[in-house]
Amino acid sequence: MTEQRPFADVPTQLFIGGQWRDASDASTFDVLDPATGETLATVASASEDDARAAVDAATDAGADWAATAPRVRAEILQRAYELMTSRSDEIAELIVRENGKAWADAAGEVKYAAEFFRWYAEEAVRVSGHLQTSPQGDKRILTLQQPIGTSVLVTPWNFPAAMATRKIAPALAAGCPVVLKPASDTPLTALAVAHLLAEAGVPAGVVNVVPARRSGIVVKAMLSHPATRKLSFTGSTEVGRALLRDAADQILSVSMELGGNAPFLIFDDADVDAAVEAATVAKMRNGGQSCIAANRFYVQSGIYDEFAARFAKALADMPMGRGLDRSMEVGAMINTAAVDDVTKLVAESVEAGATVATGGEPSAGAGAFFPPTVVTGIERGNPILDHEIFGPVAPLVAFDTEEEALELANATQLGLASYVFTADLARALRVSEALEAGMVGVNRGFISDPAAPFGGVKHSGLGREGGSEGIHEFMETKYIAVEW
Ligand code: NAP
Ligand code: MG
Repeated sequence: MTEQRPFADVPTQLFIGGQWRDASDASTFDVLDPATGETLATVASASEDDARAAVDAATDAGADWAATAPRVRAEILQRAYELMTSRSDEIAELIVRENGKAWADAAGEVKYAAEFFRWYAEEAVRVSGHLQTSPQGDKRILTLQQPIGTSVLVTPWNFPAAMATRKIAPALAAGCPVVLKPASDTPLTALAVAHLLAEAGVPAGVVNVVPARRSGIVVKAMLSHPATRKLSFTGSTEVGRALLRDAADQILSVSMELGGNAPFLIFDDADVDAAVEAATVAKMRNGGQSCIAANRFYVQSGIYDEFAARFAKALADMPMGRGLDRSMEVGAMINTAAVDDVTKLVAESVEAGATVATGGEPSAGAGAFFPPTVVTGIERGNPILDHEIFGPVAPLVAFDTEEEALELANATQLGLASYVFTADLARALRVSEALEAGMVGVNRGFISDPAAPFGGVKHSGLGREGGSEGIHEFMETKYIAVEW
């Protein structure tokens, strides 16, 4: 494809108070197609003044939105679901262009992203408090849930639609106005979502989007604004830690979806066909650039060789190429720096004694491509086990006992997703309880669901998104002591 502006109608300005506008200092940045290196669009880059103006606009719109009937908010969210679903091909193409992922991954993301609108349309009308008589019988204890207020949302590039809707939908359902700062590698999808929400009937100012190349100072300006009440962040543990410090000054409520280092445990009694299929999904969905991607495979000795051979073949058979070609199963990585990172990780693991079973080297030619890779014979202490790989590389480690598998799986500060494969139900549940992770996939490699609470323990985060939990991240409990 060689056309200059493939998406002439996709907005490229800031969206503040229901208006599309340039940055106050006219700054812009380019968005690239990682599959070709070509410039897709030039987008406005918010200044600190713009960021503060967005928080002001959100706050101005907040009281009316909080007072809007839950049913009305729900109907707007339902319309957003319908609009997004009806335009799924268009949005998937936008995601493929700016992110590089395979078509099926982008189409799957749009469906998942839209489902957050539907789920929170359903949750918006189901928020309740409670009433009880105090133990002493002297009063009634009445509680109610109120919207927390102006919320700053910061999202990563790996799921440009879903990471945005997973925050926007519960915030709107709860009655909160938001300012979204999308990743600067992928701002176009977020702007398209904002456009769609306005069309669905979200009032001016309730959803604002401020792409910014200067993310550090722009987010800081919003977190230090006295009207901000909430920060919901998805991204790396490193940036999350810094934002927690910034959030401390204004005592902000925080939700943090941070990095993962998911273990995938396969016991001797597992169904190997099912394990290979699920391992492929858990590793290769989104080209491995997912926070819940299986990052370390621990395989019991009895089936190690068989699993390794079959898994390597499954990955080697995946066609890789530009995501616009719908027959490709593996797309481009987000940028060439990401390709360099995984190349280095594989080389270090080999230096530490591992063997490359398939893949291992970046592809020649234009675009940020790295092939599906399996590395076997990984020993304890291999540096690849301590890194969130965030790419299509699967390191395989052998283990003997359940106790050893758990010790290896839990030997990390990260605790987002985990996976276990076994035919023994008691073991599956015992191991699930013992894994230090917010989520466990039992005999399956795909766990994301808008109806389920998504989140991590330890350094992987605070709070949960999705499920009935997600809306409460944007609400406060008020207690009223009543004499009657
Ligand atoms: P990142 O570098 O932490 O960036 C995430 C967001 O924070 C982007 O919008 C980024 O803006 C912004 N940002 C970067 N530096 C900042 C700073 N100093 N102050 C304020 N904002 C800042 O993460 P990423 O590289 O985009 O994404 C990969 C990471 O996200 C992985 O660790 C992955 O595990 C994690 N992730 C977690 C989940 C989850 O649910 N737990 C889901 C998806 C991804 P710019 O783009 O402009 O730098
Ligand atoms: Mg980054």
